[in-house]
Amino acid sequence: MTPPATITDDLITRLSRHVAASGAETIASVEVFTGETLATLPCSSVRDVADAVHAARVPQARWAELDVRERMGVFERFHKLVLDERETIADLIQAETGKARRYAFEDLIEPAITTSHYLKAAPRLLRARARKGMMPLAIKATELRQPKGVVGIISPWNFPFALGMSDSIPALMAGNAVVLKPDSQTALSPLYGVDLLYRAGLPEGLITVVLGDGPTVGGALVDNADYVGFTGSTRTGAEVGARAAARLIGCSLELGGKNPMIVLPDANVAAAVDGAVTSAFANTGQLCMHIERIYVHESVHDAFLAKFVDATRALKLGARYDYQCDVGSLISTRQRKAVAEHVDDARAKGATVHVGGGSREDLGPAFYEPTVLTGVTPDMACFAEETFGPVVSIYPFRDEEDAIALANDTSYGLNASVYGRDLDRARRVAHRLRAGTVNVNDGHAAAYSSMDAPMGGMGSSGLGRRHGVEGLLKYTEAQNVAVQRVRVIPPPKAIPYGRYTGIMARSLRLMRRIGLR
Ligand code: NAD
Repeated sequence: MTPPATITDDLITRLSRHVAASGAETIASVEVFTGETLATLPCSSVRDVADAVHAARVPQARWAELDVRERMGVFERFHKLVLDERETIADLIQAETGKARRYAFEDLIEPAITTSHYLKAAPRLLRARARKGMMPLAIKATELRQPKGVVGIISPWNFPFALGMSDSIPALMAGNAVVLKPDSQTALSPLYGVDLLYRAGLPEGLITVVLGDGPTVGGALVDNADYVGFTGSTRTGAEVGARAAARLIGCSLELGGKNPMIVLPDANVAAAVDGAVTSAFANTGQLCMHIERIYVHESVHDAFLAKFVDATRALKLGARYDYQCDVGSLISTRQRKAVAEHVDDARAKGATVHVGGGSREDLGPAFYEPTVLTGVTPDMACFAEETFGPVVSIYPFRDEEDAIALANDTSYGLNASVYGRDLDRARRVAHRLRAGTVNVNDGHAAAYSSMDAPMGGMGSSGLGRRHGVEGLLKYTEAQNVAVQRVRVIPPPKAIPYGRYTGIMARSLRLMRRIGLR
């Protein structure tokens, strides 16, 4: 297999120019389907990261002075470019992740949807707002949204284009500069996104990419940026959070999950099977919101399991740069070994493997079969730990209380799903699940694609949210500019302080009575 013709040496040279790197050290990018080297990219040093943040401060200050509407033209054009150049972006994503092309398409469409949402929402959310002053008419308070400055975005490999771009775009819209550190395995597609932003007219220097070892280069970014948007594992997120806290800078942490689905007794079993197959095996199971635990009411458990196993067996695996396969490769042989360890451990301790359970090196070095387990018990690694691969466990439950307790029996709280025909009942169950997003009659996409609503994790799945109001305002500092029109605090000099306290007490009583304060 040869990499797509769109990935040329000229393109790699152009993309490399967006990396802040002064030395000769390089990073190899690999075509996952074959394990062959795809590109050689520059590697940044700790000093390069500090310099990149420093260099971004001058263009950031100019960018912040523009009215938010003046900034929006860039993103209007970016949105168009992403859609126009979708096949090239999909080639890059597939080459560096090995995912099936339909998930490369989801990866690239996400920043287009996010951009479109904030093109509409950002001018409203960022505008100055009049706030009530202490004394009506006497004080006029205005809430402003000032950019943080230079935002560091640290992103993982599983949705490299989406997670690199979709967190950077609202940060830029809010008037910040961005220094982006994607995972080195998957730097090409976010670099292409950065290239598109500049082609869309983003002023020079407002977004720079740094590449290299996670703890070294990512750590340096946390040490220099004014705010950090991190997406990745819970273990790294805790380190990033502690490092940001030591500098008293803010951060948002979008972390891992062990996401449950509940199939209630009245669920449409065929629809639940369809949703479960999609959400368990989407992106080869390397999706933070994907379903790894399915709790099925005992009255429909056997019917669900039989249909689910059949549907899983019917999935088409393959290494192809077209839309013919349902499931692609895992990101690396390392990830394939980690997934196999979970399955082998479960099998050795007595779990049943109904379908899958093996590598498919005949298709490519990192392929692993979609796998369905039952009989998973707490002593098995895949019971509570995130597998982050195409492996799902199915359990029966007795009643609603049982299902809720089982679903909530985790330190994570990212995503959950409930299937049931009675929507009042399904909603009632949803409200009791400890997860940042809950999908009713869907596995994950309904909540994720609702950009106007927040998305993020409870518990060890993270801090803060992307999308919605918070997904933009987290990149700003709230500032209150209060103008005193009539001198009320401290009291006018002509009034003795003793008399002032009496007037003040009477005024406060009156304001309370008429509801002014
Ligand atoms: P990871 O934590 O290993 O790496 C994420 C990023 O952090 C990479 O760019 C990496 O180079 C960098 N990094 C590593 N160590 C660092 C350090 N000490 N300081 C700063 N940066 C550092 O995660 P991963 O394996 O790349 O991604 C998979 C994980 O991400 C899974 O747990 C998945 O659930 C999670 N994830 C969460 C979301 C979400 O929105 N909640 C989305 C996608 C993935």
